[in-house]
Amino acid sequence: MAVIDRAAPRPATEGAFLVNASGVRQVYAKGDNADLVVLDDVSLTIREGEVVGLLGRSGSGKSTLLRIISGLVKPTSGRVEWRGKPVTGPSEGLSMVFQSFALFPWLTVLENVEVGLEAIGVPAAERRRRAIEAIDLIGLDGFESAYPKELSGGMRQRVGFARALVVHPRLMLMDEPFSALDVLTAETLRTDLIDLWIEGRLPIKSILMVTHNIEEAVLMCDRILIFSSNPGRVAAEIRIDLPHPRSRLDPVFRAIVDDIYGRMTQRSPAEKEARKGEGALPGTGIGMALPHISTNLISGLMEALAAPPYAGKADLPDLAATLQMEVDELFPIVETLQLMRFAELEAGDVTLTEAGRRFVDLDVDARKRLFAEHLLAYVPLAALIRRVLDERPSHKAPFTRFSEELEDYMSEDFAENTLRALITWGRYGELFGYDEHTRQFNLENPT
Ligand code: ADP
Ligand code: MG
Repeated sequence: MAVIDRAAPRPATEGAFLVNASGVRQVYAKGDNADLVVLDDVSLTIREGEVVGLLGRSGSGKSTLLRIISGLVKPTSGRVEWRGKPVTGPSEGLSMVFQSFALFPWLTVLENVEVGLEAIGVPAAERRRRAIEAIDLIGLDGFESAYPKELSGGMRQRVGFARALVVHPRLMLMDEPFSALDVLTAETLRTDLIDLWIEGRLPIKSILMVTHNIEEAVLMCDRILIFSSNPGRVAAEIRIDLPHPRSRLDPVFRAIVDDIYGRMTQRSPAEKEARKGEGALPGTGIGMALPHISTNLISGLMEALAAPPYAGKADLPDLAATLQMEVDELFPIVETLQLMRFAELEAGDVTLTEAGRRFVDLDVDARKRLFAEHLLAYVPLAALIRRVLDERPSHKAPFTRFSEELEDYMSEDFAENTLRALITWGRYGELFGYDEHTRQFNLENPT
């Protein structure tokens, strides 16, 4: 691997400011309904010499924020500065690595990496030299003349990194760059990248990385900004001082992961305020977006929780590791259990309620009845659908009857997902049925 000139990373509290963002707000208009607030009052700084992680669940506005920082999207309001100057369009000195890199299939690896330099007018000989350097650095030597289709996913992502690095950006923005790769490939790529960074061999000053993977953030970052959802806000900031290479098994590493799980499952003060008077357990109005989770996953998780070694109570990071699930998969199921009062969530621990324990011991029909009972009691939208169907002489109501109402509170795709969840849950609990052809809810075949 060739060495690219670069000073070793400096402590991040000393480096010059690259990004200064304050009060960033991003709102998308949703036709005649209320607007969708994606980011609200987001402030952050990035200095030279640091790896910063933006950790949040999917849909919390992370990609939107990256696009705003890179100057591709102008925020609705707020101030973004790049090296002390207001960002007005795409800034020089930034490059982006995406989840899956769109390589040109008709170009070789070398040509794919050179593309970025061509765009900024670097002469041909210089382009070639720098592209070969970046390719060597990222561990692709020998593959210069290969075409993308000849490469594995991990190799293709390395080309993506080489393309971002070849322009010697000050800041490399990465949007979930490891999440499309298999577990082992992702880990190899992460460690290779961090090794290069620590050795001061990357031709960049800083990294801003978006991820929904808690351990990945703790493994790689000097500082993690925890993003809350709906709207996206920086809910907490954590500095990770552990030396590299970091071990996932180190008790301090585990404690940090634990702490972050706790913070990510905590409700924001605004949310708590909005739900005051609903008791200690979170309640919901019609307008709460629901994740489309299968009833198999819901009952499967209750069974896993009830069984040893958990016997009703589990530490979330532990549970995630046992079930090999990521935050984005596990949290929505846990929250659904919480919403339906089958489990409680407190400081990163999930505990089955009495009803949750009972559910696990029941036979199929009794499970369905208990599920239906809780669905009606704790998910107002389920009660609404059932009531409308009961009241109408036809006992039918179109999908749009409810989706239009939901779109007063959420975007179209969230409304669609929410109703899809209700269709699945309603069928399981035999509360109502749904006909895909006529797009109508009904009481005819609630199975
Ligand atoms: P993340 O990267 O954290 O998953 P995104 O930034 O991609 O989140 O999206 C945040 C929210 O903003 C989502 O609800 C998404 O549907 C919405 N959104 C993103 N871009 C647009 C757009 N151009 N118009 C309308 N809504 C958008
Ligand atoms: Mg994203």
